[in-house]
Amino acid sequence: MSYRRLDIPLPSPAPGVSLNLVAHQFGNRSNGRSAYLHAGLHADEHPGLLVLQHLLEQLQQLDAAGAIDGFVTIVPYANPIGMSQRLFGPIAGRFDFDNGENFNRNFRLLDERVAAHIANARDGKMTPGEWKALFADSLAQIVATSPAQVMKRELARLAIEHDIVLDLHCDTDCVPHVYASELQRQRATELAEIMGAPVALIEPRDAGGGAFDQVHSSGWGTVQAAGLLSENESGFSATIELRGQADVSDELASRDASNLLRFLSREGVLTAEVPTAADFAAGPVAVFPLDGASHVQCPVAGVIVYYKAPGDPVSAGEVIAEVVRLDGGTFNERVRILSDVDGLMIVRQLHKLVRPGQRAALLAGERPVRDRNRGSLLLDF
Ligand SMILES: [Zn+2]
Repeated sequence: MSYRRLDIPLPSPAPGVSLNLVAHQFGNRSNGRSAYLHAGLHADEHPGLLVLQHLLEQLQQLDAAGAIDGFVTIVPYANPIGMSQRLFGPIAGRFDFDNGENFNRNFRLLDERVAAHIANARDGKMTPGEWKALFADSLAQIVATSPAQVMKRELARLAIEHDIVLDLHCDTDCVPHVYASELQRQRATELAEIMGAPVALIEPRDAGGGAFDQVHSSGWGTVQAAGLLSENESGFSATIELRGQADVSDELASRDASNLLRFLSREGVLTAEVPTAADFAAGPVAVFPLDGASHVQCPVAGVIVYYKAPGDPVSAGEVIAEVVRLDGGTFNERVRILSDVDGLMIVRQLHKLVRPGQRAALLAGERPVRDRNRGSLLLDF
């Protein structure tokens, strides 16, 4: 047994209110490889919260059996600030009420600090452990005051000492998919396959946005791009979009937890062989570039009706949905929404009353989409 619990206090946002993060750790950090997982950074995305409870239960059993060779850290809820943001009932957990910032943006990335170190070092040969120490030192220097700033810094510091970092999200209504750096295409594809995700979206190193997983990939990616470590020696981080916001069940969560353990086993964090669930069948993974991801917008206000479901193939020019105008000149008047890519529908809206400019769907295609620019490939909605 090698379990410990960390309680990390965050600055109180108001007199009488306390906030904290919790981390559950299993194994021995000096022994083998390590993995970090958290969920709910977007606090209105709840499938991952249940997945991690199943995962913790399974890790406890593996720990008792002596089957954790490496080190695992689980943060079961990454955003207590967002989880407490209710607006007349529903949780509004994607953006910070304090300043409108997307909770999964503007993390401090490590490219510049690591590139400067490489440029100044006479000998760039460092072990993975020494690189981790450099990353951790860089993050420790971040000045943070507000509860959200401190929360983001502490999440990044907890994660950065691990080889594998997995950030569990979901989208509105979607098939499982994985976001990861182009330098880790192979492992991203393997992770997607193990998770039963039919799609992996591969980000260029200059995707922009400052998402949580980019803290890890910016550090390791800079080292890897300089030719100082191979793809396998580098750390690996990914964002896993588990499914849609409404897809929360014990059945799905138990299966997802087992699949995550299979990935950790494959990465050498666990010694145990984790069997595939009887009802689980991995299919092929389609890999698309992030700049080929098209956010198709609704043209008018009304009720959206879809002709395609997440996972369906789409062709350029094909009608994927219609918006039914409620205030048109004729009854049941519709405005068509066309695909602008040859590829797959990944995401569609859960709530069907839409406004002009709202995302109708996320489609993935092979070719770069017009108006998608490096440096701002991650949108904020
Ligand atoms: Zn999210």
